[in-house]
Amino acid sequence: MGGSYRHKLNVLALIFVILFTNFSACASSETGKITKNDFVLNTVATITLYDSNNEALIDECFDLCRHYESLFSKTDVNSEIYKLNHRETSEVSIETAKLITEGLYYSKLSDGAFDITITPLTSLWNFASESPSVPSAEEIGSAREKVDYTVVTVSGNTVTFSNDYTAIDLGAIAKGYIADKVKELLVSRGIKKAIINLGGNVMCIGGKTATEGFKIGIQYPFEESSIASVTVRDLSVVTSGIYERYFEKDGTLYHHILNPKTGYPYDNNLLSVTIIGENSCTCDALSTTCYALSKDAGTALIEDLDGYYAIFITDDYKLWYTDGTETALNIET
Ligand code: ADP
Ligand code: MG
Repeated sequence: MGGSYRHKLNVLALIFVILFTNFSACASSETGKITKNDFVLNTVATITLYDSNNEALIDECFDLCRHYESLFSKTDVNSEIYKLNHRETSEVSIETAKLITEGLYYSKLSDGAFDITITPLTSLWNFASESPSVPSAEEIGSAREKVDYTVVTVSGNTVTFSNDYTAIDLGAIAKGYIADKVKELLVSRGIKKAIINLGGNVMCIGGKTATEGFKIGIQYPFEESSIASVTVRDLSVVTSGIYERYFEKDGTLYHHILNPKTGYPYDNNLLSVTIIGENSCTCDALSTTCYALSKDAGTALIEDLDGYYAIFITDDYKLWYTDGTETALNIET
C-alpha cells in the first residue's frame, strides 16, 4: 500500500500545484514564464519562474536539491547524516552542522515533543516502505529509549553523541532549509517572481503582480482540493499533515509524526498545521513542532513569534487561526 500511496501522493502534489499556481506545463517565451517538475527529496518538486524562461536555471535548482539530499538523507550510505548516525565520522559540512543545531533548538523548545533524534522510531515504522506495518510493543519500547536529543553536541562542524545508538533524522526540517537555499540561488540570479514547491513546502519570491500576492492553496485533508487559500508575498507556506504519509490497519490510521514519549503517532485530533512566515526552514520546523505540541500549545508558540502565522485543522475539519492570521493573509475558504 505504501508504494501506491506514495504514487498517489505525488500525483496529488502535482495536481494541487497545478490547481493553485495556475501555470502552463512548459516554457512560454511570450510571457517569459517557465515551470518544471522533478522527483527530488522523495517527492515531486515544482519550480515556476514568472519573469524568466531559463530552464537551465531551474535544473540548477533541482541539482541543488539533490546536493542537499546527498548531505541530509538518513538512508543514503554516502550522506553525512548516515555517516554520523553510523559513527563513521563526526565531521560534517558547516551546513549540516547548522541544520542539526536548528533541529536541536526546536527539540529543546518543545521539551522533546519534536525530537531531531527520532530516527530509531522513524526507521522502525518506515512509512516510506512499500508495505509499512505496526511494529511490536517491544520493538517500539526499545526504539523509544534511543530517542534523546540531549545526547547530541555540535561544536563548529563536529557533531558528537554521548552514546552509540542515538541517530538524527532531519526529515521535519530539511525541505524548508533547502527551499530557502533554492530561493537564495534564484534571487542571486535576478529572479524576482517565482514559486518553489518542494512537495507542498512552498516558498514564494515576490508576488503575482507588483501589488498582489500569490494565492496558495491549503490542502483539504485527504482530498485533492483546497480547503482555503492564503495570499502571500515573499513568504513560505508549509504544512505538516497526517494525510501526507500514513497507513491504515484494523480501522486505525497510523501517520508519520511520532510521539517520542509513546513511540506511536501523535493522537491529538489535528489533521494538519500550516505555518506561514519568511523563513521556510523555520516554517517547516514550526509546522512539525506545532503538530507535536497540539493546538493550544502550538497556538501559544506562534502567537509569541513576530511575522509567523498558523492555521490548525482539527478532525472535524474546522480551521483555527492564530491572532492576526486572517487579516494578514487574506484567507479565502
Ligand atoms: P513532511 O516531511 O511530510 O513535509 P513534516 O515536516 O511534518 O512533514 O515532517 C515529518 C517528518 O519528520 C517525518 O517523516 C519524520 O522524518 C520526522 N519526524 C516524525 N516525528 C517527529 C518528531 N516527533 N520530531 C521530529 N521529527 C519527526
Ligand atoms: Mg516540518
